[in-house]
Amino acid sequence: MIKEAIQHYKQSHGYSQFSPRCVLFDMDGVLYNSMPNHAVAWHEAMKQFGIHFTADDSYATEGARGVDTIRKYVLEQQGKEISSEEAQRMYDVKTEIFHHMPIAEIFPGVIDIMQKIKSAGMTIGVVTGSGQRPLIKRLLNDFDGFLTEDHIVTAYDVERGKPNPDPYLMGLRKTGNNNPWQGIVVENAPLGVRAGSAANCFTIGINSGPLPDSALVDNGADIVLQQMTDLCNMWDEILQNIDR
Ligand code: CA
Repeated sequence: MIKEAIQHYKQSHGYSQFSPRCVLFDMDGVLYNSMPNHAVAWHEAMKQFGIHFTADDSYATEGARGVDTIRKYVLEQQGKEISSEEAQRMYDVKTEIFHHMPIAEIFPGVIDIMQKIKSAGMTIGVVTGSGQRPLIKRLLNDFDGFLTEDHIVTAYDVERGKPNPDPYLMGLRKTGNNNPWQGIVVENAPLGVRAGSAANCFTIGINSGPLPDSALVDNGADIVLQQMTDLCNMWDEILQNIDR
């Protein structure tokens, strides 16, 4: 399965080799089981502004920059263009609600896979649409020994967020000026998968949410797994099929 997926990846992107030197993880829904909290915070916050925003909306828009999502929904539902500043103020309300929710746990298998990646001599990066300082600090604390701040890409590092390739291209750059065929992207959201694929990286979908696998496959996922422990189990097989 992996062998075929890697062959297909190289053929479809026109690469003669796949030699990963970095693994770029999305944060919410990949490292942390935080999406249920985000769904509630989005719903509660947007309700205050008269915007109808369901749990499904939060999964479908996941990965995009918060301000971009808000501007889109305000335009669709209220027919007006709002400034980034206004959208940011609305996003701040969502952030405030989110901070009062219980701390999301690290998914099983995350520490294990980071250990395996480190043992393989690869660099770990995190590429998130979030820009919340407390979350970045939590990343550095939780993944001490695996992750450093200069290997994190946040909403403030790029002009154009996911589903544009920019965040992952920045991740490749920050983890050592890597080429796309030297990176692996791990994503859970359709827009995030599309960003990883648009950056021409081998993109692994971890379908931790309620959407069907096809939502990730259709956006360019090279393989789709159900949980991080599946990636742990598959890691040796990946190593056997990369070009050295
Ligand atoms: Ca995510």
